[in-house]
This record gives sequence, C-alpha cells and structure tokens, in this order.
Amino acid sequence: MSQFDVLFEPVRIGPVTAPNRFYQVPHCNGFGYRMPRGLAAMRGIKAEGGWGVVCTEETEIHHTSDIAPYFEGRLWNDDDIPALASMADAVHQHGSLAGIELAYSGLNASNLYSRLPALGPRSMGTIGASGYEPVQTRRMDQEDIRNLRRWHREAALRAQRAGFDIIYCYAGHGMSAAAQFILRRYNDRTDEYGGSLENRTRLLRELIEETKDAVGGRCAIAVRFAVDEWMGEDGITWQGEGHDVVAMLAELPDLWDVNVSNWSHDSSPSRFEPEGFQEKYTSFVKQLTTKPVVGVGRYTSPDSMVSAIQRGVLDLVGAARPSIADPFLPTKIKEGRIEDIRECIGCNICVTGDTRFVPIRCTQNPTMGEEWRRGWHPEIIAPRKSAKEIMVIGAGPSGLEAARALGQRGYEVSLLEARKELGGRVLRESALPGLNEWRRVVDWRLTQIRKMKNISVYPSSPMNAKDMIESGVKNVVLATGAVWRRDGMGRTLSKPVSGHDLPNLFSPDDLMDGKLPSGRVILYDDEHYYMGSVLAEFLAAGGCDVSLITPAPLVSYWSQFTLEQERVQRKLMKTGARIYVQHVLDSIGKDSVTISSTITGHVRELEKEAVVVVTDRISNDGLYYQLKPALDEGTIDSLRLIGDAEAPGIIAQAVFSGHLAAREFDESPVEGTPFKVERMSAV
Ligand code: ADP
Ligand code: SF4
Repeated sequence: MSQFDVLFEPVRIGPVTAPNRFYQVPHCNGFGYRMPRGLAAMRGIKAEGGWGVVCTEETEIHHTSDIAPYFEGRLWNDDDIPALASMADAVHQHGSLAGIELAYSGLNASNLYSRLPALGPRSMGTIGASGYEPVQTRRMDQEDIRNLRRWHREAALRAQRAGFDIIYCYAGHGMSAAAQFILRRYNDRTDEYGGSLENRTRLLRELIEETKDAVGGRCAIAVRFAVDEWMGEDGITWQGEGHDVVAMLAELPDLWDVNVSNWSHDSSPSRFEPEGFQEKYTSFVKQLTTKPVVGVGRYTSPDSMVSAIQRGVLDLVGAARPSIADPFLPTKIKEGRIEDIRECIGCNICVTGDTRFVPIRCTQNPTMGEEWRRGWHPEIIAPRKSAKEIMVIGAGPSGLEAARALGQRGYEVSLLEARKELGGRVLRESALPGLNEWRRVVDWRLTQIRKMKNISVYPSSPMNAKDMIESGVKNVVLATGAVWRRDGMGRTLSKPVSGHDLPNLFSPDDLMDGKLPSGRVILYDDEHYYMGSVLAEFLAAGGCDVSLITPAPLVSYWSQFTLEQERVQRKLMKTGARIYVQHVLDSIGKDSVTISSTITGHVRELEKEAVVVVTDRISNDGLYYQLKPALDEGTIDSLRLIGDAEAPGIIAQAVFSGHLAAREFDESPVEGTPFKVERMSAV
C-alpha cells in the first residue's frame, strides 16, 4: 500500500477504461503530420513510461481549416489515417488509451497552404498563424455549418478507423470554431447559432451529439473546454458563461478536459504561475457532472496529484509538460522512486518546437524529440564499451549531464568544478526573480550523480592544462561555460561600444555575483530572451530607475516563442521601466548614453548612473586550445568541448550537448548526417 495508489486506479471513460489516472493531454510538438515516425515514437515512449492516456495534438479535420505554417495532426481524408494509426499503435503497445483532438480551427486558420477561404462565425481578420495575416474569414452560413458538422463526423469515423479510443470535440483556447461560436466577441450572429448562450453553444452540442452517434459505441467522446480566458467580463469566466456551458452540457460528453485560455495562459511558465494554478478556475466542474474530469496545472509532485484527486478537483491528472520532462513519471511514482522524477521547470522551451516549426525539445529531458531519429530512450542508455576513465571539467548543465549520462553508462567519471557550489549558470540564474524552479535542472542531476559510486565530484577545483596533463588523464570533456561580454558587442554592434571601459558598466555576471548598480540604469538588451527582462525586473525591484533599450521590435523578442513575451513586457511596464525598442546603444559617456533609432537613425541622449549590457557571451574555450596539442601528440586520447564553452546558447542546448557527448563517447564517428531524417515519398 502506498499513499499514491489512488493514482493507479483505473477510470472508466464512456465505453473505454483508462488503466490509471495519468493523462497526457493533447500537446503540440513540431512533428505533426510532417514527421509521423518521430511523433509516434515520442508518444509511444509516454505510454511506455506509464501515461494511461496519450493524446495527439490538435488535428485538422478539413482542408478549409489548415493552420499552416504550424505542423499539427491532420485527418483531412483517408490518406491521413495510416500516419495517425501508427501513433495509436505505438500507444496501444503499452496498454494505454490513445486520444485524438479533432479541431476545426475557424478564425484560427489562415489557410496559407490550401488557399481557400477560412470559415468562422463571422467575417474578420484571422487570429492564427502570425496573428496578423492579411486575410479574413468568410461568415459561415447554415450550409457551411451543416458541412462542418459532417466533416467532423467523418473525421471521427476516420479517427476510429485509425484506432483511437478517445475522440475530442475541441473547444479550448479559443482556437476552434466550436469555441469561437461560444465567445460573444466573435459571434454576432442573429440565427439560432447566435445571441443567447444556449444558441452560441449549439454548435459544440451538435458536434458532441453527432460524434457520439458516429463512434460513441466504441470510442469515448471528450470535450476540451476553456472555462476562463483571464479577460474578465470581456471573455468567458469560470463563474459566468464558463460555468454555464459546463452546466448545460454536463452529462453529454464522456469526459471533460477543462483548462484556462488562451494557450499562453494554459501553458503558463513557472516565471508566472506555480503548480496547480488552474485549480481555482476548473475545480467547479466536478460538482456539475458525474463524468470524469481531467485538468492540468504543471503537476510534477505526486502529493499534489493525490491531493487534487482526493479534494475532488480532478479524476485524471492531466499533463503536457510534466510528461515531456519525464515520460516515465508514472512508473517512477509506482516504483516509489519519487526522487528520480525529472521535474518540469516550466521554461516552455518545449513550446518552441511548435512555434519554431522544429521537433519538440526539452530543457530537462534531452531525449525528447530524439526517440525515433537518434533512437534515444529517456531511461535507457548503451552500457560502456571500455574501462576508460573520463574527466569532466565544469559542473554547469552540460557538465552535469555529461557526467551523469557517462556514469549511467558505467564509466568511471571525475567531475571537477572551480566553484564551491555545483550548477554553473543554472545555479546563478535560478536565483534571479521568477526562475527558482529552474534549479531543478541541477537538483535532479546531482541527485542522480550522488547515487552513482563511479562518479567522483570535486568542487572548488579550478583546473589548468598543466595539472590535467600531469594527472595522466586520457579522456577529457570540457564544459567550462561562457562569460557575458562587457563591451556591448553582439548581433547588432560589431565593434565595442565607445565608453564601455568607463566605471559603472555591468554585465549579467556582475549582477549575479552581487555587484549591483544603483540610481538611473540603462539596460541594453541585444540577447532577446529572458536575461534582459529578468535583470530589468531585478534592478527595478532593488530601487533602480530602469530604461531598457533593445534593437528588436519587442522587449525580450524571442520569449514570444515560449508564450511569455506579453507577460514579460506587462510586468516590466508595471515596474515603471521605460522601454525603447528598435534602438541601438551608440556610446556611453560619464553621465549619459546616446541611443539611436534602428529605423530613422534619430539620436537621443539618456541620463544614467550605470549601464548594464546583455549582449553576446564569450566561450571559455582556452583550456580546449591548450589541451589540443596534447591530443594531437597522443598524450591524451579524447577531448571534447561541450555546452556554452562550445557555443553559448540556451540551457536546453547545454544539457543536450552534454547528453550527446556521453552517448557518443567511445563510439566511432558517423560519416554524414548522424540521425535519421524523415522524408516524404515523392509519389
Ligand atoms: P554550461 O551551460 O555549458 O554547462 P556553465 O557556465 O553553466 O556552462 O558552467 C560552466 C562551469 O564550468 C562553471 O560552473 C565554471 O565555474 C566551471 N569552470 C570553468 N572553467 C573551469 C576550470 N578551468 N576548472 C574547473 N571548472 C571550471
Ligand atoms: Fe518543462 Fe521546460 Fe521541458 Fe517544457 S521544456 S517540459 S517547460 S522543462
């Protein structure tokens, strides 16, 4: 008996039964219909790891609703069945249920691929793709609505033929026609699909009834519905229409999958919301229906999961990100290996697979997205091929992961770190505002490393080339990281900014080392992810008067791909920080800086007491070049530079780089492309 047994109880969902309460809700992944093998392998690993239900992402049901340039699921016609069937098969192989989220995207489709008019409750500029496509939808007439219902029914039948057990009617995130008909701001109709809430819900009701009629004998019918949009009275709320829609349809579907909208709220990063943050909005649902309810909230702690079940908030614990960070989370709970759970850090790098159109990746789980093309498994790794000993220098994310994975292979590893504390950049960055959960990248790896007797860890051990060669070491992995530039050079400035050598200029490293400016601070961000805005927030909280200057058209430009940009900017503006987008730092003087518009060249002078530059970093690759001759002479056998020391980037890349080095150690180098590539047949 364990306190977690409740999580392993089967749950009946209409005509099917989930083997346990772990439910991987639909999530995008960048594979979509374009890379079905990668997709099937990734979903199959989730089932293998114990997720009782594994769903697709949103799946297009008709060519009049294509959400190009995004790659999601596709079930336009029978030719799309085999690819999805391979995913359902991969899930069934492990005794789990496969769910499919059928989506007619309406206003969210711009039909950039099909070039046909998109259809919506009214004619308006579409809200999908870039969000600003110069294209409007056509208002659906009664015939269009009848057609949509037929297409949905046909897609449900195809989904059943593909082997799916749970079929969704999607009304979440404002991203489907069924949701958009419900939302007053999109529905100005005067027919029986407009006006009262009952009328606006008619389409969703019909889709549920007709899907049930088509496939309800064998498949469960799920509804994904966002009960609150975080827009107050401008949208639906959990106390208002969100509540009333659930009340109206309470017993109609076999399963309620409820969340908040839009997607950036639903997938809130840890920078803004804690575990379980959706309970406040979704917990009413179970009081209105006897059908099972699934909900999400970045649950990674089994105690929180049990609590959500026992408090009557949920029947099934929904997860996208926790299942990405650890596909084996359920198995680890079952086996009582709680400390082995690789907890999601809530960074949303996984989301960038979708938003950047590439296979999904994850900061915590370097094998995510690599299941098919590299044959990587999140828990299994090839055993060592020799008794070689390896020295890993640097215990940031790349060095920790390299040491851990080499240790898992069975090699004798020494991990040496110059600082007293292990963790490198992650340890330092996770002390900044909102990034506390990121520490899990270090904590999980240290927990694993401490369990392995074949890994010896030496903190406070700065290493130089001479000592290393004298130690007789034969195999070296260098994970020595990078330092932030102090001269403003980066993708915009190709020469040091004049005045960078004046006092009161700070780099992110200075701030993380506790050297802090005061008064009027100019922060120049040419890095564009989180560091600039996090430091601006940190300085503002410390009483500085902050002006953020960036050459990009948005603050923290790249954070739009992690769904954070708007919230980052809102938070910054609330601190009173002044924001100058599309401006470059021209020069730094004693009491002021000059900046100029990247568009007009117009120059301004801003008073300052200090300047913080967040631009490029410089790799710590000195040791590598000092040791290279020893490699060439044969004094050492192998030498590999990884992580930020090889090429500064995001933490996910550092972890991946460390993992790759461990997998490739002792293997013969591959000629050509070192992974499988999915190619479409030309016929
Ligand atoms: P990455 O993101 O690639 O893992 P980090 O900057 O996070 O890089 O970590 C690099 C780590 O390497 C830091 O903790 C740093 O103290 C350590 N380090 C750098 N040079 C040496 C060295 N010569 N000897 C030992 N440790 C080093
Ligand atoms: Fe969690 Fe980040 Fe991994 Fe996404 S990328 S699953 S948010 S750790």
